Amino acid sequence: MSVTEYDVVIIGAGAAGLTTGALLAERGFNVALVTTGEPTACLSTGCIDVCSCDENPLTGIKNLPPEHPFHLVDEKTIRQSLNYFQTVMMDMGMPYAGSIEKNRSVVSALGTFKTSCLVPSTMEAAPQNNTDSIHIVTFKGIKDFYPGYIVSRRKNTNFSVFDAGVYSIMSIASRFEDKNFFERFIIWMDKLRIDEDKIALPAVAGLESASEIVNSIAVLMGKPVFEIPTIPPSMPGRRLFNALKKYFRKKGGAIYWAWPVVGTEKTGKLIEAVTTHSEGRPNSINARAFILGTGSFVGGGLTATRQDITENVFNLPVHISGPRETWFDNDYFSLNHGIGRAGIIVDSSMRPADSPWNNIFLCGGILAETEILKNGCGHGLALATAHAAAQSCAEYLSHEL
Ligand SMILES: Cc1cc2nc3c(=O)[nH]c(=O)nc-3n(C[C@H](O)[C@H](O)[C@H](O)COP(=O)(O)OP(=O)(O)OC[C@H]3O[C@@H](n4cnc5c(N)ncnc54)[C@H](O)[C@@H]3O)c2cc1C
Repeated sequence: MSVTEYDVVIIGAGAAGLTTGALLAERGFNVALVTTGEPTACLSTGCIDVCSCDENPLTGIKNLPPEHPFHLVDEKTIRQSLNYFQTVMMDMGMPYAGSIEKNRSVVSALGTFKTSCLVPSTMEAAPQNNTDSIHIVTFKGIKDFYPGYIVSRRKNTNFSVFDAGVYSIMSIASRFEDKNFFERFIIWMDKLRIDEDKIALPAVAGLESASEIVNSIAVLMGKPVFEIPTIPPSMPGRRLFNALKKYFRKKGGAIYWAWPVVGTEKTGKLIEAVTTHSEGRPNSINARAFILGTGSFVGGGLTATRQDITENVFNLPVHISGPRETWFDNDYFSLNHGIGRAGIIVDSSMRPADSPWNNIFLCGGILAETEILKNGCGHGLALATAHAAAQSCAEYLSHEL
């Protein structure tokens, strides 16, 4: 068995784990991140939902139930976490627009409006009401995007179809990175003589240069242009993940990709190491502290059986309010499924409550009482609790020296 030693090991490559990792690496700690694979960010719109329950996300957070983990993070830290995120994304060439004090609207692939707080600059020009006329440019054969639905829901909306020669979202996005393809696309668009106020594209305008590509189309066409997130998997979500991953590496963090944690080594009140399987052989990764950012059910942090719910890395006690019958609402589309409250309860230092371990800190979707779907607080909560966990972990490591 190979053994490696770090100050901190982060488990999970989501918005929470990558952000905590970058913050700790910036403070000079030797940080490694271990992950099974891609996070739920790759399924998301790439927009940062902070709290969609109110026009002002900060007011929405204040009105969340007292047990919500957002209340463990003070307002200053929430603001700092979003500012930090915007600075990181700007540095990575993927600027985000928006303010913590005002939610905004993003047009969905079905023509409805999604409420979010920070949006990729490629979605900044999305209409905030139904008055702007829109011309949608879609792509022949593309799945997961339905301009017909959008046109049926919105007045003054039209669409045209471009043949990119490839049909998957990833393939079209990578074509946009090619100069010749881009020129052919612009010549074709120019011939459309678009009258509408704004131009919309499904979110396929490039892999990592999307912001530049959308800006160039807007300048060349003389109109605001915006991307519409497709249903999962989505390019903006993938761009978000890639940018956070690159930033973490840039700060000196090491990533062990496709290394699921399968066990732990413990002494007294401390976790000493996590064990992983890679290429069929066991590895032990030692650290002085551990950050658990394995997300909820989709991320792989929790597993539900007919009887109970387990946390998959440290076997921490999982909070779920009420018996199994209360886990699900009869209405499938309800936002009130009790299972959305399942997770790990933490104290104000982001350590798991009711657990003997002193050197584990949690952040993101693994936390209890989040009700992410109902409260519209996915990535925003991940970023804010990542800052709180990094702060507590750094204090712990400094005192431990
Ligand atoms: C379909 C969908 C769409 C969404 N859309 C949005 C949106 O548009 N905006 C928004 O703000 N939020 C959205 N959310 C919510 C948001 O994605 C999550 O709340 C948030 O990203 C959680 O981040 P996280 O870092 O806590 O965990 P996750 O993103 O879930 O990441 C967990 C990580 O842990 C790793 N992992 C799990 N188990 C192990 C193990 N044993 N060993 C090693 N690694 C492990 C996984 O591989 C993964 O990398 C969406 C969620 C879903 C499911």
